[in-house]
Amino acid sequence: MTTQDTIFGKIIRREIPADIVYEDDLAIAFRDVNPQAPIHVLVIPKQPIPRLSEADEEGDQALLGHLLLTVKHVAALLGLQKGYRVVINNGNDGGQTVSHLHLHILGGRFMTWPPG
Ligand code: AMP
Repeated sequence: MTTQDTIFGKIIRREIPADIVYEDDLAIAFRDVNPQAPIHVLVIPKQPIPRLSEADEEGDQALLGHLLLTVKHVAALLGLQKGYRVVINNGNDGGQTVSHLHLHILGGRFMTWPPG
């Protein structure tokens, strides 16, 4: 498998450790190293799409759907029946710091709005 060289690519390739909570053929989910809520997990595609705005309308449609359904599955695994927030930071102004598409699952407390 080829991935671009980000920290998340290294996690996929098991070159650095991560607290992995779920994995399938297309996606992997692991705990965020700097959690912003009692439960903070990242769901990422194994295919290295840099950011949501670079997803392909046709080629990535099934993968993007799979990622959302993976969020649903992982949230249930983690016991987030009371609810949770899903965040995708996109690009510089979106606060994205790792150029490998990732969906944040934040839960275990009431999530305030608006976000910062
Ligand atoms: P973003 O700001 O949306 O790009 O989110 C990147 C997230 O990756 C941040 O919440 C970081 O804490 C998290 N992160 C960075 N390196 C690691 C790592 N090695 N293991 C787990 N999470 C990481």
